[in-house]
This record gives sequence, structure tokens and C-alpha cells, in this order.
Amino acid sequence: MSGAALAPVNEALAITGHPLQRAGAWAVAVMAGKESAAEVDAEALKLTADRIVDDVCRAATAPKGSAAYDWWKVLFALYPNSKATHSKRSGDASVLRPAIAEFFAAETLAAGGGRTCTFCGGAASVVWAKSNLPLFDSSKALNTLPPGTPGWPVCQGCRVAIWALPYGAWVTAGSATVLSCEVEDAERAFAERNVRRARRVMQLGFDGVHRLEAGARPELVALRAVRACRAELSASTLWTFKNDNQEPWLRVTSTRRAVPRFLAIVEGNAPLRRAWRLLEIWLTRRDKSGQVTGSGAGQAARLLFESEDGSGASFLYQVYRMLSDPKRPWYLRDEHEVLRLALTYTKEILGMEPDLHPVAELIADWIQYGGGSPRGKWAEYYSVSQNGYRLGLLLHQAQNRLLLDGRNVAAGPDHWRAVIGQRTGAWEHRLLLSPTVSQLLAQRGVRFNTPVSEEEEQQVRQAVDQAMLAGDEDAYDEANGPS
Ligand SMILES: [Zn+2]
Repeated sequence: MSGAALAPVNEALAITGHPLQRAGAWAVAVMAGKESAAEVDAEALKLTADRIVDDVCRAATAPKGSAAYDWWKVLFALYPNSKATHSKRSGDASVLRPAIAEFFAAETLAAGGGRTCTFCGGAASVVWAKSNLPLFDSSKALNTLPPGTPGWPVCQGCRVAIWALPYGAWVTAGSATVLSCEVEDAERAFAERNVRRARRVMQLGFDGVHRLEAGARPELVALRAVRACRAELSASTLWTFKNDNQEPWLRVTSTRRAVPRFLAIVEGNAPLRRAWRLLEIWLTRRDKSGQVTGSGAGQAARLLFESEDGSGASFLYQVYRMLSDPKRPWYLRDEHEVLRLALTYTKEILGMEPDLHPVAELIADWIQYGGGSPRGKWAEYYSVSQNGYRLGLLLHQAQNRLLLDGRNVAAGPDHWRAVIGQRTGAWEHRLLLSPTVSQLLAQRGVRFNTPVSEEEEQQVRQAVDQAMLAGDEDAYDEANGPS
């Protein structure tokens, strides 16, 4: 390190582009009651570090199976083999405490020895390896380390930030999720929510928290944070990872930039909002006793996040599935509104405005007048509706049949092109075609789904009028105050 210029000690807490350091820095700012990381001075940093040390010691010495022990599981998933999570750690908090407090020792220029922090570039006297740094390689993997160092140099501010990470992240007993967003206020709001939730996990354990949240998801917390900032356009990325003793993994999902505008349009329009709520109700998962195991609001929020490899559950596909579900509650208004929701998504998020009416009319005419039972004809169409080639054959057949019967056919091959074959958008158009056909038939009085009881219909109507993207856990915070 001879000859290297000494980096100065960072006066304030840095907030960097590294998603884990960044989420941790927001958590420190929230825990210290500051607006931003830049306002976190030495004193605020010390107080936050003290709180983290207290929580770590309490979790690391809690009896197995207790609510407090659940926070240890969180720490274990992020920092395996650290002094806080090692199986040979002391069970005595007073013995453990100095060892944990040392993690966050103040930075001194002399001690830095010319090393600069891996995250922020400030002077760093402490070198950390995988046990203290989530998603960094083991110190044994020397080839991936900066030359001549036994680990990654990390400054005091970034050391506190990295251990504040579980407070600012959406955590489970085995993973953590952080948000990066073009709108900084949304990142702060996400951290704020999770700092409160971390306190609840420590108090109630995950069982108690799950009872309050009923299957909420990080995507829901992220969307609500973004919505609260009223930005028009902003992409959000969620990084979910696990770092325990087994193989670490990282999963990245993102929203498109138009998502905040799309949500604002839906929320500001009563029919679209009701359609979104219907989707939430349909997506709610319950166990045999009727207990909610997957929040519909959380599942719907998830549909707006897409994975990099494109393997995420598509919003349009779920709408298509809902409209095809014979067991869903129905009335004509919903069907119409849900289709409008799907078309709004297609326009705002995908930038497409397909005119599916001529093709839908051709298929509806064939189902209604093409001979045989309309129910059987609908089943025939439905079975090929998502296969471009087979749908093309059916369109040929339908057109021939209607022409032979002397009926007027409005749609020609020009109209078909949008829904058959592999071209861009064809898949999305096919997903939208089937509810369009179904709606046309319903307008003509042809229906195939089974009506539900009046009581159930009534329940759904009431539920549809409640707020979208809502979470049950807010009532708890209001009753117990912020932590
Ligand atoms: Zn740093």
C-alpha cells in the first residue's frame, strides 16, 4: 500500500449505488430519525450502531423457538459464521457485546493504512469477508479479492449500513429483499416500512407478523412506497437474496417505468379500480380453514414486477386466467371493467393499442351461428386460443363456415395477423382476444360461466369497493405507534 494517497475519513454516512449498502444506509437514516444519509453525523451513527448491537445480542442469546430468536434467523441468513451467528458464540450477552460492538468501531485516519472502503471510497481500517458481508465471496477465495488484502476494506459508516440492512430490507427467516428506485423518496419509504416491521419481527416473531400481514409481499410494500411519492415515471428493482451456509442466490425483478402512471390511472378511475380489486380478490390464497396465506394485494403487486429472464407471471396472463375461471364471481360490469383494465395495462405499460374487435366478432359469430352448441364451440376456440398456428386454422375454418352460410364476415387476414404467428405482441393480443370474444357473447346474451350465489355476489361487491394495494398490518402500527 506504500505510495497510495490516504483517503479521508467520510464525515457523513455515504449512500452508494451498491443495492445492499444503499438499503442499509437508508435504514440508518430512518433509524436515526434523519431525512437522508447525508444528515447522519458521528453521533447519530454511534446511536444507531448501539441499537444494532443491542438487538444482535438479544437475538443471539435468545432461547431457540422464542419470538426473539426469529431475528437471529434473519441474521443467520445474511451473515453466517459471523460472531453473532456462529454456533460457538457465547450465550452470555455481556461477553458477546464487546465483540459485536467492535464491528462498528470508529474510523481513524492512521488505522486506515491507505485502504479505501469497498463501497464509498473513504478511509477504511477494517477488513471484512463473507461472514460479515452478504453476497461477498469467502475470504478463502483469494483470487476474487483486491490484491494484498485479506478481505474487503469497509469504513465505519458502511459497516453500520451493512448491519442495518435487515432493518431496511423486507426479510423472511431465510432471505432479504431490498428496493432500488429512480425516486429516492420511495427507497426511503420502503426502508421506513421495513424498520417498523423489523421491530415487530423482534417482538412477535414471524408467526405473529404473518398473522398481521396475512401473506403480504415485498412487491406490495415497494409499489405502495412508489405510489406515495406520486412520481409519473419510475422503474423499481427488487433484489432478493440469501447468503447462508448453503449456496447463496440472488433474484432480481423490475417494474417498467410507466408503472406509477398506470397505477395512478387505475386508482383514479372507479371502474378500473374495481377491476383491480376483483383481481386482488381472485388472487387471494387461503388454506383449508379459510385463513389467508397469500394476500391478493401482494399477488397482484407481484404481477407488475418482471424477472430479467422474462419468467415472471405476466399480468395479462393472470387476467386472462381470471376471466376464464368458471368459478369466479361474475356480472357483466366486471367482465367489461376487467377487460378495460387489461387494455389499459397493454396501452400504458406495453405501449400497444390493438383493435381486436373484427377478429373477436368473427369468432363470436362462429360460436353463435356456426352450428352445434355454442358451449362446445367456445370450448373448441378456447383450447386453441393461445396457439397462434392452431388459432389461424380455426379462423380459416370459421370464416369458410360463415361465408358458406351467407353471413357477412368483417375480419380478413389483415386483422388476423395481429393474433397469429410469433410476431411481437401476438401473444399479448391472443390473451386479450379471448375476454373480448367472451364480452361480445355476453352482450348478445350468450354466457358459459356458472352464476354464484347471491350472498357470495354481495360479498364480492362489497370487497371490490375497498381500497386497492391495501395491507392489513397498518392497523397494528396505528395502535402501537412507530417504533
Ligand atoms: Zn464506506
